[in-house]
Amino acid sequence: MDNRVFNFSAGPATLPESVLKTAQEEFLNWHGCGMSVMEMSHRSKEYGSIIQEAEATLVRLLNIPDTHKVLFLQGGATLQFAMAPMNLMTKEDSCDYIIAGNWGNKAFQECEKIGLKAHKVASSEEDNFTYIPEEKDWDLSDAKYVHYTSNNTIFGTCFNELPEFDNKIAICDMSSDFLSRPVDISKFGLIYAGAQKNAGPAGVTIAIIRKDLVGLPHTKNFPTILNYSTHVKKDSMHNTPPSYSIYICGLVFKWVEEEIGGLDKMYDLNKRKAQKIYDAIDNSNGFYRSPVVNENQRSLMNIPFVLPTPELDAKFIEEAGKLKMLNIKGYRTVGGIRASIYNAHPMKGVDTLVNFMEEFRKKNS
Ligand SMILES: *Cc1c(COP(=O)(O)O)cnc(C)c1O
Repeated sequence: MDNRVFNFSAGPATLPESVLKTAQEEFLNWHGCGMSVMEMSHRSKEYGSIIQEAEATLVRLLNIPDTHKVLFLQGGATLQFAMAPMNLMTKEDSCDYIIAGNWGNKAFQECEKIGLKAHKVASSEEDNFTYIPEEKDWDLSDAKYVHYTSNNTIFGTCFNELPEFDNKIAICDMSSDFLSRPVDISKFGLIYAGAQKNAGPAGVTIAIIRKDLVGLPHTKNFPTILNYSTHVKKDSMHNTPPSYSIYICGLVFKWVEEEIGGLDKMYDLNKRKAQKIYDAIDNSNGFYRSPVVNENQRSLMNIPFVLPTPELDAKFIEEAGKLKMLNIKGYRTVGGIRASIYNAHPMKGVDTLVNFMEEFRKKNS
């Protein structure tokens, strides 16, 4: 569609155009039922089929084993910073946090705030989160759990190989790279992700939890809605779920499965898209610079880079805007540019950016 822009926002972010079109076609009258999904009772058989299919598609995509359960929750990834430790840890347990960005820090602080034992076992904060601390530098304790962020949305670093924690239970905030590549779910106690980066619209958080970690004795007197066990027992329908957001997530899952061809293909496509931008940075004779220290930690989803001066950063952003490339300004503490190119960001947007980078460099260096 000609009047659509290239949206490089870090979230909420670009959705697949075909998903938006399907939603538009189905908007007034979903599958002949005479109403919009937004107007349906969440207890209706129509809505039941929508949420069940969304879950089933996700199970197929990620090959989620029977030991794990998919949940559609509210409160964002931010609520999971507290809900995860509350539910999984007793006062005797502790959790090791590997911190390579603001979000990881927030997760750590929430665990401390609710009075549970959190250890910061590695952090790159002193170096403005320009890298992920390497495995050999983790000062892991004998904690039962370990928490980490797989992709650092603001700083553009990611674990390109997911770490292994032999006898610890891994908890992972996958908000900004969920569904960008295949993942062995069996290796995790809990994965959570706000949907608005890569999986759908804002308003729903996806969690995948190992069933044996649900409903531990100490959670018995929790507020009902803060207990994973409630959501597992009620198939994410304890109270009114964010029904429209889940419906759109379901369409996005289908898009990955049917139009992209699954997560291996999605990963290939993401690598090709990101490589074009990294090549443009690396072949610019230092005009564009990536703040990320280690090449093998470069994110496929969020690509920050800076120009020689803040004035050029501003000029770049302004001229990119004229070419319909929006939301490309870097985060406050990093400066420069950040191109977020999640799953649904089209190759054409990446090509437009890369061509512009080349033109801009020639004119301004
Ligand atoms: C965006 C983001 C969050 C916050 O998500 P909310 O859904 O707004 O609470 C947490 N972690 C990461 C890695 C993110 O990218």
